[in-house]
Amino acid sequence: MSQNPEVHASHQLSLKGKLALVTGAASGLGKRIAEVYADAGADVVIADLKQDIAQATADEIAKKGVRAMGVAMDVTDEAAVDAGFAQVEKTLGQIDILVSNAGIQIVAPIQDFKFSDWKKLIAVHLDGGFLTSRAAVRQMIASGRGGSIIFMGSVHSKEASKLKSPYVAAKHGLEGLAKVIAKEGAAHNIRSNVICPGFVRTPLVEKQIPEQAQELGISEEDVIRTVMLKDTVDAQFTTVDDVAQAALTFAAWPSNALTGQSLVVSHGWFMQ
Ligand code: NAD
Repeated sequence: MSQNPEVHASHQLSLKGKLALVTGAASGLGKRIAEVYADAGADVVIADLKQDIAQATADEIAKKGVRAMGVAMDVTDEAAVDAGFAQVEKTLGQIDILVSNAGIQIVAPIQDFKFSDWKKLIAVHLDGGFLTSRAAVRQMIASGRGGSIIFMGSVHSKEASKLKSPYVAAKHGLEGLAKVIAKEGAAHNIRSNVICPGFVRTPLVEKQIPEQAQELGISEEDVIRTVMLKDTVDAQFTTVDDVAQAALTFAAWPSNALTGQSLVVSHGWFMQ
């Protein structure tokens, strides 16, 4: 073993020989996580709503020298999730890592929130979290290898913000789901954790800035300064790389010591 701690650390974070499936991986956080996993040696499955977009991302990632495939999978659709996982198993084998990341945002005050929008958001985050983790757990049990399940939570798994009733409810809910899987999965060498990012400037957040400005009657600059980054220690956005490094740590952790946990990556917006 190397005496150099840096070499030792990077050795521990290798994903060589692992197969990872990331949902919502054609954009934002999911895409960066898939890239970082490929850099660590994993084969990756890019699951997203549209086949051509998922495949285009997979083709880009395959240039890193790993196997990569795109799969069309609406995470709210039981048949589509199960068919997508079956297709992956047939083509690349059983998965070792799931990042249940697909997500949407809809903002409105609760008195104006449409029930249809509530159900749509809950379906993507909670039905999606359930359906994809169930399919992953089934493959991890069948392979006998176990694996790592990672949910994309949020600081909103811990804190509330105005205008986000279903999002905050869903992100809190994912913490409960992750803890149950940590308990049930232990016997099968499956661990389960949650990453809780602060605001990251992905398309999901770029869209919210003008929407919140309108709802709150303030400028876009003020949405960033007085809403999004108000409680950080340094008024900085979290980055896709910050979140991808957390996802790599949860995926590559060499034992089951790290399970049932959530890691908040938010420039101190929320402190445990
Ligand atoms: P994004 O909009 O850049 O990417 C989301 C991806 O999910 C898109 O590619 C979209 O096509 C896909 N998607 C949406 N609905 C889907 C469905 N039903 N089935 C499959 N794929 C679907 O957003 P992002 O910022 O990268 O968000 C990713 C996750 O991170 C979400 O769960 C979000 O709640 C969470 N998150 C984001 C931030 C942030 O500040 N950006 C902070 C905390 C948590």
